[in-house]
Amino acid sequence: MRQVIEKDRIEKIAFAPLQNAAKKLYIGGQWVDAEAGRTFEVSDPAAGESIAEVADGGGAETEQAIEAARIAFKEWAAMPAKQRGKLLSEVQSTLQERADEIAKIVTLENGKPFAEARGEVNFSLGYFSWFAEEARRAYGNLVPSPFPNKRLWVQSQPLGVVGAITPWNFPAAMVVRKIAPALAAGCTVVLKPAEDTPLTALAIAKACHDAGLPPGVFNVVTGKNPRPISAAMLDSPAVQKIGFTGSTEVGKLLMEQAAKSLKRVSFELGGNAPFIVFDDADLEAAVAGAIAMKFLRVGGQSCICANRIYVQESIAERFIAAFIEKAKALKLGTGFEPGMQIGPLISERACENIHSLVEDAISRGAEVALGAAYLNEGNYARGTFYAPTVLLNVEDNWPICQQEIFGPVAPIMTFQSEEEAIARANNTTYGLAGYVYTRDLGRVIRVTEALEYGLLGVNDAAGYTHEIPFGGFKESGLGREGGREGLKEYMETKSIVVNLS
Ligand code: NAD
Repeated sequence: MRQVIEKDRIEKIAFAPLQNAAKKLYIGGQWVDAEAGRTFEVSDPAAGESIAEVADGGGAETEQAIEAARIAFKEWAAMPAKQRGKLLSEVQSTLQERADEIAKIVTLENGKPFAEARGEVNFSLGYFSWFAEEARRAYGNLVPSPFPNKRLWVQSQPLGVVGAITPWNFPAAMVVRKIAPALAAGCTVVLKPAEDTPLTALAIAKACHDAGLPPGVFNVVTGKNPRPISAAMLDSPAVQKIGFTGSTEVGKLLMEQAAKSLKRVSFELGGNAPFIVFDDADLEAAVAGAIAMKFLRVGGQSCICANRIYVQESIAERFIAAFIEKAKALKLGTGFEPGMQIGPLISERACENIHSLVEDAISRGAEVALGAAYLNEGNYARGTFYAPTVLLNVEDNWPICQQEIFGPVAPIMTFQSEEEAIARANNTTYGLAGYVYTRDLGRVIRVTEALEYGLLGVNDAAGYTHEIPFGGFKESGLGREGGREGLKEYMETKSIVVNLS
């Protein structure tokens, strides 16, 4: 089996976009090297081996990309939205044709199972069609004038050059969820993808290029060290906005720096999602939903993954037994092995962070119902795998419930009343996503009104879709991506007063 996987992997690495220009920086429609030919290595977390060398850009290269985006902005912004939308649809078609190949790159550099990677890439594409259409509906407003000799109207127009910074957990979706609305609105973009997963972003840039996106409209600067790249974006007067997806910690740093020039920011940050199961819920659906939201999104490395599971006391025993049984049956392995449901974690450091949260909980008295260990033997020997873990007797104020776990660890707690569940669920500085399982309509309304989260799944653990805005309350972010709101994030509002006399 191992040999088959090795051969398969080598074939994946030979995929054309990895071989040719797509390991360079993409600036002004050209594939260019970093200064002095600097490169950095990208590795496969399932095998712990290097898969590519990518251009290691920094401040100077970012300034070049910003200049290319600044020059391209005038024409791109002036292009009718319908025409921009047509080009974005071309990009979508090109990506669609390459979806499987791009999904292979996602699996190679991120580790997630291939079927999941394919799902991510296909989902990403939907943002191009949604925003290609939405751009045509960026309506203004004719406002009734209080003065007989004046006319008033309000219009939206693109902000200008946008600096985008994205994480590794959804190497395709997080890039497209930013660039599709920004480009549709008429902005031009300089993207810095995560250093762990730059190849997917470069494959997306290649598709944009081949689909005929004009030079400079979309630029990618890859780099090992994010700081000089983000500093160049933040220092540039040409950059009007920073769109960032990543940790709350880095979001706060960027916001401090953005304050110097009052740059606009959109932030999609960390989460600490509660998953609440009431005693009237469809138990089977609730268990399936909890398993999906805990383990089956990048093995728990997603901002909207269930971080704390709250089950009403009277059904807790049945829920826990069913949950553990399903968790035990999960298949872990390298992403290209058929039928795998969970891949490796992104890095050794990610494994260590998760294990230290688990050890801390155990030292405080948590009961280990499953897992709580690194997997490093046999098929798991070369990758960064962590066992699906279930912890019981956990308390709300422990780090495991207050921090983002970002891995396959499920702390399960019990509660008595609706009020208690709401209060405990809201007891966090985060506010990105939450889940509620109940069949009582009154309760659905009361609980969804009371929970302080930007996304709530009621008897649903599928996440979000293109048509609705996505973003967080509290320290989970600022602004929204997707939906009608997503376009407005990249537009400025202008009021016009015309004096007729
Ligand atoms: P991260 O904050 O470490 O990195 C995200 C991006 O920021 C990367 O491109 C990285 O290179 C860059 N970066 C890191 N340090 C920087 C610095 N000092 N200055 C400028 N840029 C810097 O996060 P991560 O580990 O890549 O991703 C995981 C985090 O992202 C989690 O907290 C997760 O919840 C969050 N996330 C949020 C959403 C959302 O939609 N809300 C989606 C995915 C991930």
